[in-house]
Amino acid sequence: MSATTTTSSQKTLTTLKRQVASAVEADGPEAHQIDIDRLVWLHARVEVARALREWAESSKHPLTGDLAEVAELQAFSALSRLTGEGFLDAVQISRRLADIAERLEPLQDVGASEAHRLLRSSLREFADREVKPYASRMHRQDEDIPEHIIKSMAGLGLFGVSIPAEYGGAQVTPDVKAMLIATEELSRASLAGAGSLITRPEILVQALLRGGTEKQKRQWLPAIANGDKMVAVAVTEPDCGSDVASLSCPAKELPDGDWEITGTKLWCSFAGRSELVMLLCRTGQAGHRGLSAFVIEKPAFAGHEFEYRQPGGGTLIGKAIPTIGYRGMHTFELSFDHFRTLASSLIGEGEGLNRGFYLQMEGFAMGRIQTAGRAVGVMQAAFEDTLAYTKDRVVFGQPIFANELARSKVGMMALWLQGSRQLSYLAARMLDEGNGQTEASLAKLYACRVAESLTREATQLHGAMGYSEEADVSRYFVDARVLGIFEGAEDVLSLRVIGRALLQEMD
Ligand SMILES: Cc1cc2nc3c(=O)[nH]c(=O)nc-3n(C[C@H](O)[C@H](O)[C@H](O)COP(=O)(O)OP(=O)(O)OC[C@H]3O[C@@H](n4cnc5c(N)ncnc54)[C@H](O)[C@@H]3O)c2cc1C
Repeated sequence: MSATTTTSSQKTLTTLKRQVASAVEADGPEAHQIDIDRLVWLHARVEVARALREWAESSKHPLTGDLAEVAELQAFSALSRLTGEGFLDAVQISRRLADIAERLEPLQDVGASEAHRLLRSSLREFADREVKPYASRMHRQDEDIPEHIIKSMAGLGLFGVSIPAEYGGAQVTPDVKAMLIATEELSRASLAGAGSLITRPEILVQALLRGGTEKQKRQWLPAIANGDKMVAVAVTEPDCGSDVASLSCPAKELPDGDWEITGTKLWCSFAGRSELVMLLCRTGQAGHRGLSAFVIEKPAFAGHEFEYRQPGGGTLIGKAIPTIGYRGMHTFELSFDHFRTLASSLIGEGEGLNRGFYLQMEGFAMGRIQTAGRAVGVMQAAFEDTLAYTKDRVVFGQPIFANELARSKVGMMALWLQGSRQLSYLAARMLDEGNGQTEASLAKLYACRVAESLTREATQLHGAMGYSEEADVSRYFVDARVLGIFEGAEDVLSLRVIGRALLQEMD
């Protein structure tokens, strides 16, 4: 059955791609946004099924085979609605999920190498001990991330996972999956208090590795790797988020070759505590060819507000914007006024002038796959709590889990979780080989959307308790909401990154 459904799904998807491609060719992509978005989501379903099938074939674990088959049936069902053929009964699929829920066991290490297993178990133990006990308070009181978390993460070398050993990092050969495992385990304990600390260095590190001078790499990479310098990334502005090419914050070159910045950046996470801020500024013509990336240095500040005055009179004022989740990181409005930075802070120096857009985008590919890992970590936490709660809580004289409908929801949660995980690992393998940019975006898109659905079901199955601040699932729910907004807003990622790449394949 699964081989037949898979072949049929792929055929229907290819036909749909052709139809959308010719419609787009005739009228342009803006006239067919809804078609492109639907194509991307159907493609995501097929890719999730493919990732789970590969996992099942390599691991030989029976449950992984069941999950792959249900994902294949779901993809087939969604695609066959387009052709009107072979409609599958949704009730049958839900029953399969309820059955899977009854047989569930921890699956995160199934098929993993010994090294990856060890990495996960040591990080889980670390995050449970060092991060989890502080996660709820950090969220509810909107406190700073405790310094001991940052120090102990640095001690484990977690900021240097993607930095080559020659620049003081831990990477001998590219291993994006190792970075994902670290991210998952930290995010399982706290998205904002640990799992997200690696994202910003990942973006800056990629930009430096691809576009920095040798001197810049030696200046910043070892300090990032050993946790001496925390990193923030300031791209978004008050009038400009998704449309990065339209950023306006200007950097003006001074007669001595240094730069002066006067302007505002918005939504800059972790800007207070960070010592390095990767900053995208306008240095040239309108559009993406007039942007440059800088690394500015500043002292670390605690709390929700700071003011940094340079000896020459330039200032940088930061004010945290209150948010419903993702607390601990604190996300700032940054106002630069005659802020001076050295000529050597321009990534790539002379060669890097007006190349910032490209460097930022290359950094974002790593930021996106890392964000898929963050979503998986949050889902893992919500899933575990829900499984335990539904088995413990008695309603109408029996545990919630004894109900078929509740079990089918738990089964669906398992499918979202494992599907996202395997999709991100598939992209990780491709990134290790120097490809996989679109796959990384797809993993981010899918994992972040289903993280919302999964945490929603988690709060639902917890009843009123799920709506209390006391229960961790309410934090997972508000934390998950941000994942589809940053590192590529969902619709923009679907239409302008993944959709565009899928349609290019048809050229
Ligand atoms: C908690 C938090 C932390 C953040 N941290 C950082 C950070 O550290 N550094 C940083 O630089 N930024 C950060 N951001 C900002 C984030 O990257 C931006 O919010 C994101 O890029 C989207 O930009 P925007 O908010 O201006 O949305 P807009 O660009 O205004 O888009 C809003 C919505 O409009 C729709 N839309 C837009 N364009 C299209 C289109 N072409 N077709 C169809 N629909 C469209 C989409 O639904 C999109 O979500 C953070 C945001 C949050 C909430």
